[in-house]
Amino acid sequence: MTATIPTPRNDISVIEVSPRDGLQNEKIPLSVDQRIDLITQLGNAGTKRIEAVAFVHPTRVPQMANAEEVMAGLPRDNGVSYSGLILNRKGLDRALDSKVDEVHLVIPGTDEMSLANQNVTVAEMLVLAKEVSDVCKEENVPLTMTVAVAFGCPFAGEVPTEQVARVLDGMVGLHLAEIGLADTIGVGVPWQVRALAGAVRERFATEPMRLHLHNTRNNGYANALAGLEAGVVGFDSSVGGFGGCPFAPNATGNIATEDLNYMLERSGVSTGLNHDALVSTASWLSNALEKDAPALLGRAGQFPAKEAK
Ligand code: ZN
Repeated sequence: MTATIPTPRNDISVIEVSPRDGLQNEKIPLSVDQRIDLITQLGNAGTKRIEAVAFVHPTRVPQMANAEEVMAGLPRDNGVSYSGLILNRKGLDRALDSKVDEVHLVIPGTDEMSLANQNVTVAEMLVLAKEVSDVCKEENVPLTMTVAVAFGCPFAGEVPTEQVARVLDGMVGLHLAEIGLADTIGVGVPWQVRALAGAVRERFATEPMRLHLHNTRNNGYANALAGLEAGVVGFDSSVGGFGGCPFAPNATGNIATEDLNYMLERSGVSTGLNHDALVSTASWLSNALEKDAPALLGRAGQFPAKEAK
């Protein structure tokens, strides 16, 4: 078998999650103005989709407080789609009032996680999912639904593919723009990506698939590649690789946007992202958070050194 140069494609979306996942576990909270600055820089770097805020209770995630003010301060009509993450009905109402472009509902894959995080069972979350789907359809706002801890749970341990499949069964028939799978604690390996993508495809023939990966155990990029090959078309990433997990306090964060972009671009995928602008945004964020970025491209540099574009 001979390896061939990949066929060029431009159907992959990189969803920037640093303003949400990248900040939510940081010791130093960014101000509303800093968060607006970060999101604006990301838009200027060519990012088309940004998870800008989470509509969660500020006592639970103080770093995400004042989501409404952040949304109100963002540049609009610049071709960037801003999403808000929600966990309940109140979050949905706040998101719609804030005029998000996309709603993102997260459904834990295990009762253990769901009860710990949201104080409801997965079955109860699926009842909410139907309500959120109905409202988003009525309001004509695209809805992404993501199964969290799909690759492993800090409370339940291993999460079998069949268990995730049962959660997906509960989402069949909803009005979904996208189906997400999240490796919330960064424990997944590539065969799981293939198995879970297969489980999605058995139930959803055409809805785009999205992956949320952390590089906690250095498998994030291998998982992204497995996803690309399994038909995933949306990848969450965080500039600089910031982002944490409360269950792995010393771990690195999300897969880094600049590192993911390097792999995608060198594999024939054009993302529209500007490498230099991403690296300078990562450096800005590193200063703001007073910590080094886990990402490698900012240190190693682009290859080839001079981009033709
Ligand atoms: Zn995450």
